[in-house]
Amino acid sequence: MSDSLIDRTIGFLLGGVKETETAFTEPLGSALYSYARRENPTVADCERAFAEIEMAKWCILAPSGMAAINIALSIFNDPADRRPWLFPADAYTGTLQYATDVLQNQRGVNVRFADPAGPNSTTSNLISAIEDEAPALVFIEPISNPLLDIIDIPAVAEAARRQGARVVVDNTFATPYLLHPLDAGADLVVHSVTKYLAGHNNILAGAICGNDADSHARLLMHRNTIGSVLSPDDAGRLKTQLQTFSLRLAQQNASAMKIAEYLENHPAIAKVRFPGLPSHPDYELAQKMFAQRGFGAMITFDLARSAEGSSRFVDDLAADIPHIGSLGDVTTSFLHIKACFGEEYEHSTIRLSVGVEPAEQIISSLEQALRDDPADR
Ligand code: PLP
Repeated sequence: MSDSLIDRTIGFLLGGVKETETAFTEPLGSALYSYARRENPTVADCERAFAEIEMAKWCILAPSGMAAINIALSIFNDPADRRPWLFPADAYTGTLQYATDVLQNQRGVNVRFADPAGPNSTTSNLISAIEDEAPALVFIEPISNPLLDIIDIPAVAEAARRQGARVVVDNTFATPYLLHPLDAGADLVVHSVTKYLAGHNNILAGAICGNDADSHARLLMHRNTIGSVLSPDDAGRLKTQLQTFSLRLAQQNASAMKIAEYLENHPAIAKVRFPGLPSHPDYELAQKMFAQRGFGAMITFDLARSAEGSSRFVDDLAADIPHIGSLGDVTTSFLHIKACFGEEYEHSTIRLSVGVEPAEQIISSLEQALRDDPADR
C-alpha cells in the first residue's frame, strides 16, 4: 500500500464511565485512543515504521528536530544532580544554542562543551572531556553539522558508561542508512526528520528512538504534558515518504562520493571535508562505522576565494542549485555557512547537500559556478 489513511480525530469516542477511566489512566502507548494530544493512530502507525528503519524498539515523533531534542533531554533533567552535560565542539548551532539558552540559563544544567582545539581527534578530545568532567549526559552528532567531524560512538559510549553517563545521539546527518546508534551503544537517538527521513522540503518533524521501556513511558508522558505533537497529516505524509528513504539515500550517498572527489581535484577549492575522502582526518573511522554503504551525502568545502569571490560563487551557484537553510532533500541544495551560522565560520565555507539528481548534473552546475575569474580570487 502506498498511502496511509489519515485519522484527524481529536476526541475519540470514550464509551461509558468505566471505559473513560481506562482510556485516560492506561499508560500511553497502549493504543487506547482518547485525546489526540495523548496519542493518534496515524502518528502511532508512522512511529512504528520509523522505529523499524532506525532498528529501535520504539519511536516518538515530534513536530520538529528541536522539539525532539527538547523532549528527549528534558527527561534527564534532575536539579539534584550537579554533574555536567557534555556537548561536542561542532554540532548544529540550534542545539548548541538550546544547550546554553534553555538547559544552562533556564534550567540550571551545568553545560560543558568539548574543546574544539584539543590536540587529538574529535573522539579523543571528547573522551578526555568525559574523563575530566564525569558528566551525567553526553550528546553527540556522529557526523557533525556543519564541519562533518566523525565521532566514534562505541568508544564514546564506553567512556560514558564508565562514568555512569547517558549518551544521546543526533543521527540526522549519518541517517539510519549508514548507522544505528542504539546498536553502537547510545541510550537514545534523536533526528531532525525534516531532513533525510522526510526528504522533500515539505515536512517539519523530529523523532526520538530507543529500546528502553521506562524512557519510552516517560517520553510519551512528557510529550503529552508539554503538548509537542506531530499532526496526523504530517505523520501520514511522512509514512509515505519513508518508503523511499533507502532508495534516496543509496543514490545520494553514491553521488556525494563522486562529487567530493571532483571538488577535491578542483583548483578553485582550498579544502574538502567529506568522510569518504582519505584526506578526512577520520577516514578510517568512517569506513569502520558506516557499514560500507557510503559516507553520507553532505560535503563541506572551502573555496580558494576572497569574501567577494565567495559571494559571487553563491549567486552563480544559486542560479542552478537552491541556496536554502535546510538539507537532506531529493533536490540538491547548498548553504553559505557563515551567513547562516555566524562569525565563527570562514566566508569561503560552503555546505552542499547532495540530492538524487545524476552526479554529472550536479558537477556541471558546480563547474559553471567555479569557473576561473581572476576577480574572484
Ligand atoms: N539536528 C541537526 C543535526 C540539524 O541539522 C537540525 C536542523 O538543521 C536539527 C537538529 C533541528 O531540526 P529541525 O530544524 O527539524 O528542528
